[in-house]
Amino acid sequence: MGPTTLPAALRTAAEAHGSKAAVVEGDRTVAFSELLDQVRTAAAGYVALGLEPGDRVCIWAPNSTDWIVAGLAASYAGGTLVPINSRYTGHEAHDIALRTGAKIFVVDNGFLDRDQVSELRAVGELPALLALVALPGSSAADSVVGFSDLAELGVESVALADARADAVSAEDVADILFTSGTTGRSKGAMSAHRQTIAVSAAWAEIGGVSSDDRYLVVNPFFHSFGYKIGIVVGLLTGATLYPVATFDVDGVMDLIEREQITLLPGAPTIFTSLFDAPGRAARDLSSLRLSITGAAVVPVVLIERMRAAAPEGLGIDNVYTAFGMTEAVVVTMCREGDSDELVATTCGRAIPGVETRIGDEGELLVRGDIVMLGYLDDPEATANAIDADGWLHTGDVGTLDDAGNLRITDRLKDMYISGGFNVYPAEIEQALARHDGIADVAVIGVPDDRMGEVGKAYVVRRPDAAVTEEDVIAFARERLANYKAPRQVEFIDVLPRNAGGKVLKNDLRGAR
Ligand code: ATP
Ligand code: MG
Repeated sequence: MGPTTLPAALRTAAEAHGSKAAVVEGDRTVAFSELLDQVRTAAAGYVALGLEPGDRVCIWAPNSTDWIVAGLAASYAGGTLVPINSRYTGHEAHDIALRTGAKIFVVDNGFLDRDQVSELRAVGELPALLALVALPGSSAADSVVGFSDLAELGVESVALADARADAVSAEDVADILFTSGTTGRSKGAMSAHRQTIAVSAAWAEIGGVSSDDRYLVVNPFFHSFGYKIGIVVGLLTGATLYPVATFDVDGVMDLIEREQITLLPGAPTIFTSLFDAPGRAARDLSSLRLSITGAAVVPVVLIERMRAAAPEGLGIDNVYTAFGMTEAVVVTMCREGDSDELVATTCGRAIPGVETRIGDEGELLVRGDIVMLGYLDDPEATANAIDADGWLHTGDVGTLDDAGNLRITDRLKDMYISGGFNVYPAEIEQALARHDGIADVAVIGVPDDRMGEVGKAYVVRRPDAAVTEEDVIAFARERLANYKAPRQVEFIDVLPRNAGGKVLKNDLRGAR
């Protein structure tokens, strides 16, 4: 059996892959043995600052090599990692720090410049805080510890940090990851070390990830797909990680070509912008061998384009879709050899050790060791989410075929009832996405005197497309039962989406 804690996984990786590149970012390459050294150094700094086992370390920064070091150091020092959304304002970051009782708060230097930290401090006290640590390099501001100063601080504490790493157990809480907040306030999902390792290992196994892979991580580290399915997968497989701080299509295509990237998982929106990039046809993206998408309903047309031969498509044969959520990270996944049809229309089958079934109202239920320990400080929400038999209620509506392949219909909360019929906006969005003039679309239910609720489509036109409200409704009527066709259409410049690419339907509802 492999390692069951993150410090053990890091040590194993340093032994197995020593001088091989663990992380490459611009001109900086960090080998696996160096990564272990840097993590030990930072962990010793945390210990010197007063971090105790089980204490929380928050990180609020975009993807970077230092993020990886700072995050793994939290585990190495026996602490619990709390990644914070890098798009948050100081107010929101402060809220997470307060809710988790942050002892150490690691913050991007750029956020200090933007004065977000004064916002962070101005909001209120962080009673538990031992130190603010700024990434990268040394500190610019007063009373902030520079990340590179941790080495000096921890000089006497390295042996203590090593002992902390030895003492970490598989059952200790490794991380608290916050849900995307698509349907309400973000909830902190707690996972044990063995869970974080198990789900990352399962994903890597299905994807056939090895030390030969060069893995471009565009998924943010504050989300489970960037942290567990990114950083932890790198540790477990010896793959080289290329962290990307902000997604820019040309930069990403440059990296793929120059570094011969093999692995590119991402939200559907990432691939949509790749396809819309003007220069894409001239690029050689043929080093890509595997791509995995999910996190939101995946347009069927997108999968077709990803799998089609270059230059029209991306030419990746191994395009998998997956279903996941912060509370369980990865639940289902397609496998090599699955047909185009299966990949385009399902999220694959349960990963090993996970059971899936459909409960009341068509809700997807999930059970298995990877299901979170519970929500932070919220026994009531935990009891609502995980029933007495251990089934996690996902809040998503779906079906399972005989082979166990999952089709997600929609979120329970997004479903509306029109004239007595259940309507799933995702189905209407799939249909409208096939219209040539439509670049992006989201549908919500709005009150209607006669029908109870009717559909309203928010449509982003393609540049130069002259599509009208009547066109959109007629297009939907041709393809869908009458009660499903939207009755109202509003054209907007861009849909409100969160960092994971999910449409913020609450914002659309609020905007009416
Ligand atoms: P919150 O729980 O705070 O409202 P959230 O559910 O969006 O936010 P995440 O845990 O990041 O936060 O996302 C999980 C959700 O993403 C799932 O419950 C599901 O609705 C959606 N999702 C993930 N993968 C897929 C997929 N392949 N197809 C459709 N929806 C998906
Ligand atoms: Mg959720």
